[in-house]
Formats: sequence, C-alpha cells, structure tokens
Amino acid sequence: MANPQSQEAPAEEGPAEEALAEGAEAPRKIIHVDMDAFFASVEQRDFPELRGQPVAVGGAGGRGVVAAASYEARVFGVRSAMPSVTAKRLCPGLVFRHTRFDIYREVSMQIREIFRRFTDLVEPLSLDEAYLDVTADAAGLGSATAIAREIRRLIAAETRLTASAGVSFNKFLAKLASDQNKPDGLCVIRPGKGEAFVQSLPVRRFHGIGPRGAQKMAQLGIETGADLAAKDPEWLRAHFGSFGETLWRAARGIDHRPVRTHRTAKSIGGERTFFGDLSAPEELREALERIIGIVWQRIADKQARGRTLTLKLKFADFTLITRARTLPRAIDGEAEFTALARALLDEQLPLPMPIRLLGLTLGALEREEQAEPPAPGVAASNPSGQLALF
Ligand SMILES: [Mg+2]
Repeated sequence: MANPQSQEAPAEEGPAEEALAEGAEAPRKIIHVDMDAFFASVEQRDFPELRGQPVAVGGAGGRGVVAAASYEARVFGVRSAMPSVTAKRLCPGLVFRHTRFDIYREVSMQIREIFRRFTDLVEPLSLDEAYLDVTADAAGLGSATAIAREIRRLIAAETRLTASAGVSFNKFLAKLASDQNKPDGLCVIRPGKGEAFVQSLPVRRFHGIGPRGAQKMAQLGIETGADLAAKDPEWLRAHFGSFGETLWRAARGIDHRPVRTHRTAKSIGGERTFFGDLSAPEELREALERIIGIVWQRIADKQARGRTLTLKLKFADFTLITRARTLPRAIDGEAEFTALARALLDEQLPLPMPIRLLGLTLGALEREEQAEPPAPGVAASNPSGQLALF
C-alpha cells in the first residue's frame, strides 16, 4: 500500500481503523476510575455504625440537597442532587451526614498519588473520578486491564474504599465501562467492540447527556445508542446544532479527545443557600465567615491566585446581584481575601430584603501553570515536567 500510515497501523481492527482513517493517532489505552458512592462510602468507612445503613451526605434541612447516597439509600431511589426533603420521603430511615470535604480531598489526593504510579497522564474529573492514559505502560504490567486491576487493588488496600474502573481505547467508552459493573467492578471494552456496546445502551448513560437532553431525545424517538446511530449527520445537526457531530461519533464509539493533565479554571468559588432567609447583619457576617473559610480552602488547595473577588447575593424574591472588586495584582493571602470579602458585604448593608443565598468567587485567575510536587518515582520518567493540576 502506498499509504505510509498503514505501516504503523496496529493489528487491531474496527474503530482503530476508523480512527486512522480520520487522521487520528494510533489507538490509546484509557482507564476511567470512579470511586463507588464516594462521600457516602467515606462516611461508612469512618463511622462503622453507618455501615449497611441508608446514608445521605448533604444538608438535611429544608433546602438541603443530597450530595451523595450510599447504595443502601439508592435502593429507595435516593440520588445525588435530589432535594433532601424528597429523599427523606422516599426513605424514611435515611441517615443524614454533613459533608466533610477536607477528608474527601485527602482521599482524593491518595488515589491520585496511586494513579501516578502508573502514568503521568491523569485527568481528574472530580474528587473521585479520573481518566488515565496508560498507553505507555510505564509500570510494565503488560496490559491496561492489568493496570486497572492493580489500581483497584491498591485503592482498596490503601484507602479501604472501593473503586470501579472502565478500560477502553477512548475516554467516552472508558467512562461508560466504569459505570457498567458498579460498585466494585471492572469492565473492558476492546477495540472492535465499542460500537456494539454503545448501541446497546440507553442514551441517558452517555456522559454529556443530562436528564433534559435524554428527554429531548426521547421526544425525537431516540432511546438507545442504536436509535442515535440510525440518524444521519444532517438530521443530528438540524436538531442538536454543533453537538450533533459529537453525538454522531458517540453513537459509533468514536472519541478522539486526549487525556488532559490540566485544565485552566476560570474561577474558584462557593456559595450557600440558607434554610431561613437571613437579614440581621451579624447573621450575615457569620454566614460570610463560613463561606470565606470554605472558598479560601479551595483556593489554597489549588494554589490559585486571582485578582477579582465577587460577592453574590440572592434575595428572598430570587433577584440576584453580584458585587466585585478587582485589584491591579493578585489578592495576597487569606487576610486580604477575608478583608475584601467583608468589605464587599458591609457595603451592601443594610440589605433591602433578606437573602437566601450568599456566595464568593475568586476570578481573573493567573494563567501560569503551577506544577505540583512530583510523585515519588514519577519525575525521572517525566522529562516534559508536565504535571497535573488538581
Ligand atoms: Mg463516583
């Protein structure tokens, strides 16, 4: 054959060939690791009396939302992002626990350190999920499946928590695979099997298709990947705009996105919705102090530096205002951050009406990449120095 690319084409057939035909690189080996019911599992690990119980992590109060639910709670239909009131109605015996983000972040660092024993190409999606590109097999385990098994074993041994893993030749399929045999499961989708796997699934399982997207698709007669694959690109573009092309590829198990080791965050922030609307200045200041603590912790964790601090207030009638202060240089440390936040609130007092939500965001972040300290044994094999940001 005249095409020089065919010399380097791997022996695998199917989607790998398609990928080459589209000009992509040789197939990768991707693992998606996802902790099982993460926050709830950490609570059950640390408080033995919670084991075997339906547990929800999050605010139990009037406007509380479930951040995570144990598998015992999921049996009752309790899900994350569900209002706590609904969750309690579904599961009267539900035990509520407050979130302990400092602990979850600690475990998150532990699992990321485990990932980096196998590859420098780690892309965290959240505290408890990450994509790993293990094409290079730096640890010499022989296969991506063996690496995934070893990672799951190490996580269980070192954190006393379980993780599920999906192994495939792209991110889209690896993520579907990690979800397939949850909890404590492993699923491998080999080259040539991606398209059939995707087409057997309901589209709501696809990453990037939320409940509303799934609803829209159902109205258009699309329930499964096979229904989606039956539509031509023009039809998809007409109904979904530029997302149509992504859907066309997804329906065929094609995904060329590389594992990205860092993302450029635009801002870091946090907010709180209150059970009762707040109006007294001392209540407001106390609430602000708590948000300052939470947001500053996030900023410190990411070693972020930014110039703009924004205060967000949502009033009882749901109108929203933001007030920002921008410095000519990055905000210098917790004391200055705290002082600016207090000043922004004080300028709004007395409030015209009670508020139901208070938030703080640090923006205009410095773009410079800050390398985190290399994991043991990683630096030597990583001359590029490209290390992951959290
Ligand atoms: Mg998870």
